[in-house]
Amino acid sequence: MEKSIFTRIMEKEIPARIEYEDDKVIVIHDIAPKANVHLLIIPRKPIPTLMDVAEEDLPLIGHIHQVAQKLAQKLELKGFRLINNCGKEGGQEVFHIHYHLLSGFHE
Ligand code: 5GP
Repeated sequence: MEKSIFTRIMEKEIPARIEYEDDKVIVIHDIAPKANVHLLIIPRKPIPTLMDVAEEDLPLIGHIHQVAQKLAQKLELKGFRLINNCGKEGGQEVFHIHYHLLSGFHE
């Protein structure tokens, strides 16, 4: 399977503004932000879409939520949206699962 753009970013083949990294996820700033804060929380495991998440991946999905919480604290966000686009019909463009964390709509 061809490497996704996000795997290439993780492997530092392509530059990105990294906000956070650990052994399970990387968090980068979206290249085309739709809000004052627009981060992408991306698991290192290249799961194509939410529909491909297996039972064994559920701790990883929980971890993504915990990372969102920590980022909100670190960046002192007053609120945020956590969005997953699933499949072409759901507006997904990059087929490596990721969550958009958006904040700052009413500043
Ligand atoms: P999707 O539509 O798949 O949910 O979202 C993909 C997101 O990835 C889009 O918001 C798009 O702007 C972002 N994106 C695509 N290519 C790159 C890239 O090379 N670098 C960064 N930082 N973001 C990207």
